[in-house]
Amino acid sequence: MSTFYCEQCHKKFEAEGTKTEWMDRTYGPCSRWTAPCPLCGTESGMARMTHTHSDDHGHGSCGCGGGCSCGGGGCSSCGGC
Ligand SMILES: [Zn+2]
Repeated sequence: MSTFYCEQCHKKFEAEGTKTEWMDRTYGPCSRWTAPCPLCGTESGMARMTHTHSDDHGHGSCGCGGGCSCGGGGCSSCGGC
């Protein structure tokens, strides 16, 4: 279970989620997790975590819940954190 956030309801909820992966022309392999909001059904992304952008998180992730290699730049999976 992971925590997701619905921007329509401004509400966090727990769900299994679905992983979506795609190949970005600029950033290479990206992934994100989404789940439908239990209240309104809107596809929601993972709840935003604190974005420290320090080197200690490693793994090529910016901590946004996705596993993309954008380095926290302009990737659509994290909205440019
Ligand atoms: Zn909702």
